[in-house]
Amino acid sequence: MIKPFVPQLVYIEPRALEYPLGQELKEKFEGMGIEIRETTSHNQVRNIPGKNDLQKYRNAKSTLVIGVRKTLKFDTSKPSAEYAIPFATGCMGHCHYCYLQTTMGSKPYIRTYVNVEEILDQAEQYMNERAPDITRFEASCTSDIVGIDHLTHTLKRAIEYFGQTDLGKLRFVTKFHHVDHLLDAKHNGRTRFRFSINADYVIKYFEPGTSPLDQRIEAAVKVAKAGYPLGFIIAPIYIHEGWQEGYKVLFEKLDAALPEEVRQDITFEMIQHRFTKPAKRVIQKNYPKTKLELDEEKRRYKWGRYGIGKYIYQKDEEQELRQTLESYIEQYFPSAKIEYFT
Ligand code: SF4
Repeated sequence: MIKPFVPQLVYIEPRALEYPLGQELKEKFEGMGIEIRETTSHNQVRNIPGKNDLQKYRNAKSTLVIGVRKTLKFDTSKPSAEYAIPFATGCMGHCHYCYLQTTMGSKPYIRTYVNVEEILDQAEQYMNERAPDITRFEASCTSDIVGIDHLTHTLKRAIEYFGQTDLGKLRFVTKFHHVDHLLDAKHNGRTRFRFSINADYVIKYFEPGTSPLDQRIEAAVKVAKAGYPLGFIIAPIYIHEGWQEGYKVLFEKLDAALPEEVRQDITFEMIQHRFTKPAKRVIQKNYPKTKLELDEEKRRYKWGRYGIGKYIYQKDEEQELRQTLESYIEQYFPSAKIEYFT
């Protein structure tokens, strides 16, 4: 059982207090008896407790910074959406392969932005630019937004905002099951609620600090029953002893849990395990005992953007992974849509 996230330490940027959500969060954390420190900018968040880098990293991941999002230029977010919408950065989870380790570098604390309305206004501008085409916004590019939303309800606000648009759609993915406050949001079918799932072995060894598979599936059933379009991201697909059986059991569990009426509109996205050289270094630093296989020799090198290539599985392994997982999807969820395998 994994409890909803509660920060050990909270920093507030003074400007955040000019927004109602900033005030509300300050009062909430005061009421919970959590230590609150002021900081002029998140870059000045220092003195995160800890005797060494590893302890500091762990403590940072349970530190929350309440701030204002200054950059309102959204990044692109292919292949699943046009734009990444930034409500938060960082995550309390400890997935060994999490790419936030490389993108967030020395600032692994969690930040939540209280200028939600300004962020949504910016989204509207992007929608207007693309009209009459639909614009999709991905809310989980820089954090696991569901994992902190029970504290902020920012995602809930965004779900209801997009529920009222004609040209906007929202999507996000999570490894957490704390979804109850989102069940009554007026989503109007415009938010696709996705869960990241994997074989038990992979979750057990590489995803500490996140919800177990069975709870993620239970949460998926709840959100589907609440009328949300549902999706699953199987990522990273990872070769381990008995992987064929491991992924089969995953589909058997999904099949047993999902009622017939929610199966018509399910999507699957599949991402094979990959790593870059910089990611390997940081993973081995943050999770020195990891069993994660990170041997370049065993992998195939694929050139990447910015000159940083990634190591993916060999062609024949990739084929086998793809065929095996696609055959499970066809067998158990014939009316689901496979969005991509990468
Ligand atoms: Fe990273 Fe997602 Fe795991 Fe959080 S839940 S540590 S964002 S992979």
